Amino acid sequence: MKLTIDSGLCSGHGRCYSIAPDVYEPDDEGFADHRDVAREVLPGHEASAREGAQSCPEGAIEISED
Ligand code: SF4
Repeated sequence: MKLTIDSGLCSGHGRCYSIAPDVYEPDDEGFADHRDVAREVLPGHEASAREGAQSCPEGAIEISED
């Protein structure tokens, strides 16, 4: 599973890293860190990754199952 956070959509609400801090983290300005870089979700963190993506009001987090 991979996730990508779109920097053009991320508005820094912080819901993703509040709900799933094991997957998402803030940068210094409160936006989700590691934006625009597809990254692998670590084994065992898939449910958190999905929860965080679903919590994003901007739809900024894309999850791919490959
Ligand atoms: S919830 Fe969405 S808009 Fe808010 S910080 Fe996370 S990715 Fe960005």
